[in-house]
Amino acid sequence: MSQTEYEESEYLMLSGIQHFFYCKRQWALIHVEQVWQDNEYTVIGNEIHERVHDPELKETRKNVVTIRGMRVSSRTIGISGECDVVEFIRTNEDDGVSIQGYPGLYRIYPVEYKRGKPKSGVEDVMQLVLEAICLEEIFGTTVSEGALFYDKIKRRQRVEITVDMKDQARQAVKEMHHLMYSHHVPIQKHSKKCDNCSLIELCIPEMQKQDPEKYIANYIGELL
Ligand code: SF4
Repeated sequence: MSQTEYEESEYLMLSGIQHFFYCKRQWALIHVEQVWQDNEYTVIGNEIHERVHDPELKETRKNVVTIRGMRVSSRTIGISGECDVVEFIRTNEDDGVSIQGYPGLYRIYPVEYKRGKPKSGVEDVMQLVLEAICLEEIFGTTVSEGALFYDKIKRRQRVEITVDMKDQARQAVKEMHHLMYSHHVPIQKHSKKCDNCSLIELCIPEMQKQDPEKYIANYIGELL
């Protein structure tokens, strides 16, 4: 499936990229099969996002305009979602963007809030990269930096957003569209990640690493 622009009805959830990079099967179970089950990690994560997306949508400090819960989308890669925080930082650079009602030009800086501490995987970083891609498309500028805030360490981690990272994120979304279009849920080997996965009972990774027929035969044998 190749196309230059997507219809809104085809947009995938931006935040789904974190599931995709955590486990492609997890993403497909949630977004293709539409199954979901909360565990303590997802519940805490949702609470953090509710706190960030408070009703005070916009605030202005010296040289920084902050917008919370900003809706973004990209027609070219077919995704939409919400940025936790987007900071518009006053700049003297010519490639800054203008904001209605505010003087001068601004550099765009997305900040995503996460539970826990920084992860070894790239799933959080890739979500930030997708937000940068959307913001670039909306404002016609380049977004080359952002930050991830983790509630456990209570500070931001600066993330440089490179061209290679944007290519990797675009490629991943292309694959997500392909899985969605073909309604395919990939098989994934059991790994340590399964222990923290809210879908473990629905996914049954044990069954994937064995021959399914043998597994069922053994299971029935245990019941008899
Ligand atoms: S249980 Fe493991 S294989 Fe299954 S969706 Fe979760 S992480 Fe992926």
